[in-house]
Amino acid sequence: MDQTTIQVGPELFAPAESSSYSGEYLPESLSIGPDTYTFAQPLNWNVLVSNTGGALLVAGSVTGVGTTECSRCLEAVEVPLNGEVEAYYLLNAEETELTEDEEDEFEVLGEDNTINLIPLLEAAILVDVPLQPLCREDCKGICPDCGVNLNEQSCDCAEARAKADAEFEEAKNPFAKLKELNLSNDS
Ligand SMILES: [Zn+2]
Ligand SMILES: [Zn+2]
Repeated sequence: MDQTTIQVGPELFAPAESSSYSGEYLPESLSIGPDTYTFAQPLNWNVLVSNTGGALLVAGSVTGVGTTECSRCLEAVEVPLNGEVEAYYLLNAEETELTEDEEDEFEVLGEDNTINLIPLLEAAILVDVPLQPLCREDCKGICPDCGVNLNEQSCDCAEARAKADAEFEEAKNPFAKLKELNLSNDS
């Protein structure tokens, strides 16, 4: 058995019983939104499984470091992860009629009384990662014109673009004036 599966022991089927479990999880890579995370070291997880009466509550945390790309400059950036795991596994699911809402809320324990933690750990990480990972708060990103990393080099593109914009505005102006003239001639 790998370190991402919990075998629920018979003692946990009595109300108010609980057991803690911990282990490591090394995902190959995780795609989260537009970002792909890789892991040099396994993530550490620990959870407490407790019997709440009708369900097993799995609650705990998953911590570690993921590596992804800075959303502005595309350099590798290490993101500390600290996700919260929480899920309910309904006991005696086959005897209970579930509404649709309840079906979304509860997981169903496998026949062999195992809990596969991978989806829980991945969901916890997904909630925890930043929407836009950045190598640093004030990352200057990549120049859209010449492609240099503006954290490391500077380029004249922004200046050239501003000059071109100014010239464009100037070029538009005579026409605007001409239009005004025409209008006043007509009236
Ligand atoms: Zn960056
Ligand atoms: Zn440039």
